[in-house]
Amino acid sequence: MGIEAVMSARTGRALSDQWADGVAVRPRTTERHITVHKRLVLGFAVSILALIAVTAVAVALSVKFERCTGEPNGGEALGDANARSTPGTSGATGTRTHDARTRGEGDNDDDDEDARFPWRRARLPTTLRPRHYELTLSVHMDNFTFAGCVNIDVECVNATRYVVLHADGLDIRTVTLMHADGRRAGAGMVRVHRHFAYTSSQLHVIVLHRELKPLRTYRLNITFNARRENELLGFFRSSYMLHGERRFLAVTQFSPTHARKAFPCFDEPIYKATFKVSLRHEGSYQSLSNMPVEASTLDEDGWVTNHFSRTPRMSTYYLAWAVCNFTYREAVTDSGVVIRLYARPDAIQSGSGDYALHITKRLLHFYQDYFKVKYSLPKLDLLAVPKHPYAAMENWGLSVFVEQKILLDPEVSSFSYQMELTMVVVHEICHQWFGDLVTPVWWEDVWLKEGFAHFFEYVGTDFLFPKWNMEKQRFLTDVLHEVMLLDGLASSHPISQEVFEATDIDRVFDWIAYKKGAALIRMLANVMGQAVFQRGLNDYLMTHMYGNAARDDLWNKFSEAMQREGKDINIKEVMDRWTLQMGYPVVTISKNDSLGNTVTITQEHFVYDIEAKLRDPDLFNKSFQWQIPLTLSVGNSSHISPETIIWVSNKTETHRVGRMEEETWLLGNINQTGYFRVNYDLHNWRLLIQQLMINPTIISVGNRAGLIDDVFNLARAGYLPQNMPLQIISYLSEENEFLPWHAASRALYQLDKLLDRTEDYSLFSDYVLKQVAPKYHKLGWPSTSADGSFLQAAYQTEELQREVIMLACSFGNKHCHRQAVTLISEWISNNKNRIPPNVRDIVYCTGVSLMDEDVWEFIWMKFHSSTAISEKKVLLEALTCSDSSVLLNKLLNLSLSSDLVPDQDVIDVIIHVGRNPHGRHLAWRYFREKWDMLNSRYGEALFMNSKLISGVTEFLNTESELTELKEFIETSGGGAASAFARAMEIVQANVKWHNLYKQQFFQWLRKSPNG
Ligand SMILES: [Zn+2]
Repeated sequence: MGIEAVMSARTGRALSDQWADGVAVRPRTTERHITVHKRLVLGFAVSILALIAVTAVAVALSVKFERCTGEPNGGEALGDANARSTPGTSGATGTRTHDARTRGEGDNDDDDEDARFPWRRARLPTTLRPRHYELTLSVHMDNFTFAGCVNIDVECVNATRYVVLHADGLDIRTVTLMHADGRRAGAGMVRVHRHFAYTSSQLHVIVLHRELKPLRTYRLNITFNARRENELLGFFRSSYMLHGERRFLAVTQFSPTHARKAFPCFDEPIYKATFKVSLRHEGSYQSLSNMPVEASTLDEDGWVTNHFSRTPRMSTYYLAWAVCNFTYREAVTDSGVVIRLYARPDAIQSGSGDYALHITKRLLHFYQDYFKVKYSLPKLDLLAVPKHPYAAMENWGLSVFVEQKILLDPEVSSFSYQMELTMVVVHEICHQWFGDLVTPVWWEDVWLKEGFAHFFEYVGTDFLFPKWNMEKQRFLTDVLHEVMLLDGLASSHPISQEVFEATDIDRVFDWIAYKKGAALIRMLANVMGQAVFQRGLNDYLMTHMYGNAARDDLWNKFSEAMQREGKDINIKEVMDRWTLQMGYPVVTISKNDSLGNTVTITQEHFVYDIEAKLRDPDLFNKSFQWQIPLTLSVGNSSHISPETIIWVSNKTETHRVGRMEEETWLLGNINQTGYFRVNYDLHNWRLLIQQLMINPTIISVGNRAGLIDDVFNLARAGYLPQNMPLQIISYLSEENEFLPWHAASRALYQLDKLLDRTEDYSLFSDYVLKQVAPKYHKLGWPSTSADGSFLQAAYQTEELQREVIMLACSFGNKHCHRQAVTLISEWISNNKNRIPPNVRDIVYCTGVSLMDEDVWEFIWMKFHSSTAISEKKVLLEALTCSDSSVLLNKLLNLSLSSDLVPDQDVIDVIIHVGRNPHGRHLAWRYFREKWDMLNSRYGEALFMNSKLISGVTEFLNTESELTELKEFIETSGGGAASAFARAMEIVQANVKWHNLYKQQFFQWLRKSPNG
């Protein structure tokens, strides 16, 4: 799945329309073989069958079971009338204690309990395996109810009297079971004793009169009805406006555990089966699913049934379908895969989908080449929907994207919008292999698929736009630095997390899974070398295609690939340390004065607040150790040595390095490929900073960014004196590359949050401005006559210019402020927006914060009238920059209560108000007042929730705010426990930093010659 990246609103250039080549608008047709369904014909067929069968009744019944034909409606009961559903036989209450009992007591007890109450286990019993589903759904789009009938062929693994499968909120009408083995097919039914919903675990339990026998196959038939509202999960309906008219569409989101909301199924990734889906709906709609339509039938009442081809073996969570009246554009790959992008007709017509379609075509080629494994399905549809709980979902052959992550208006879209959109597409296409073709065995290893897809966002985007330098550069700030902030907390967790309850599953889709997963894969790829890494991946995919794999399967393939190269590294042994332990090490390298040319290398668990570790006895008793592939170079003012690799596995080791003079410095973690921080003795730090001042280019761009990030964070955690971060940024006037500036500005904003309400704040902001001013004046502003074309080559320069302007304006450079005010005034006076897209967010925000209320109203009006999605977002975020608490309050209330702000943007509004020093208390108070409502609205999409919680709490830094947070957590009840634990730790560390280091920090600034 795609995660909602935290958007620091950024704009940029628009695209040229080169993508339009090779794609063509097509009118919407059903263009499939349509047959008129005649009830008479079916009736005739049935009677013929009846004639040749041994017993007419039995055969007529079996025809119905096999085909799930006709309106699957509970009214015409298809089976055993005695087996009516008895919901609530074992309700949610009173069974919880049993749930708890199934773990932790004697094994015998557990076995016994498992056998007698197989539905009380956290996981499905392993007695049955589904092989094939035939699912027919009738969808009423007007009131959004649907009726379904599913036939599931199940193979019995161990004898059992129970069929336990998932169903959530479905009204199960009838249940029947019969033999499906060819030989015994005529042997008929297995009588159902009773069936009931076990709602606390979202299960449906079928109790049989006699046991099912191992190695035999049975066919289970279930009919059901459902009605869904106001939920963006399972099979749901949403709407959009077209020419002033409300239109409906219905789409699925099954990952991770919501297929059970749409039909009864074995809803765990290990239960792979083939699926044949049929959808019945009014003829004015079209329908899509993972596979192409095989045949369509048109009923006399104007309803259509689309029968989709049988899928390959797959898990339930990436099964998908949609009912809509969208149009599409199409492209075909050289190997004949048909790619279509479906969206609102107006979006297709304006060409907003062409970019994504174009890159998808190129990406299918890229991945096929890279993995040396073909895309498995005949088609790939990309569906752009107005509302979706995630950025995107990688359903096999039918990936779903929220419009903001797939539609692009070339005229007004910013560079960052394009970049983010590109990465979401690259991510979802990668999942067609990692996730869909080979699926994690269980959710504890969800990082296997998400880490890979996230890593490939950078590799795949580099393929599309080599000059963006994503994997070597942007990865560092956006993934590595970002996740090390989180994973440096004592409340972090290992990337492979045990998952028991269904409710735990959402929890594993967090940034640790995505970003740490990606960072570890990148580290490993660098240790193995590109070619060997690729061979290992190919072997892994070939071995496990259409099946499931766990992390050990991957490690084994990687070890084998290494062995074939004559390198004997036990990848599993190395990687278990990184995946089963939380956090990461800080490696300290110190020169030994007494032993010439040797260094002492130590490792310890990096934690921002060591007291947090002390508070947690569990953690305190653990002695974390890693096997660290430390790359090392030595250098001086004119030269740097090639890197050598040292495997560090002990707490302390001594190693011999190349010849070192007094002025020779050491540099560890070359190009920051490793997932750890590096610290040095103070003398070495001084030499490195001196090197940056004299000639930064001796050290790679990646390492320059890495040094900055390490210094700021090591100081924050107390490993280095507080003046070090301030000293290192004084080299920035010599820095001409974007990445180190980006790393610095990210670190400075972190620090700014800690300091911006302190008395001496201006000492800090003046110091920053002094470092930024020379570059700001040198680079100036982008020209206002943007011609709308975007040049790849200019990306680095323009991004750097933007970064510097942003720093200047946010830290209060007067020239920058005047420039922004002038640009806004011009826009208002002649109603022509000539502000370069790349700096619009900065200009809007600065204008709103400095100018009067009329400007806020103007932007608000523009937000309403703008149709371009990317521009809308920038305008909305600008509204959060006001100094006026009246306006900020108004905005908060409007966001939550009206249709004006899209659901997925409401969270961003609150977070951005929190980022505004004038809005912090407002956002924090608003969050507490509305928590119950927010939690019920976004609770299931846990990502949103934890993003919100950290967004409104991360700046709290006084004892009294800490108390407020504690009290709130105590009184607000359960839910989001891990996000709140993280928030507590961050605020505690903030308070501690103020107590311990603030004085030292400002003292240096007061004395600083540069200050
Ligand atoms: Zn994903």
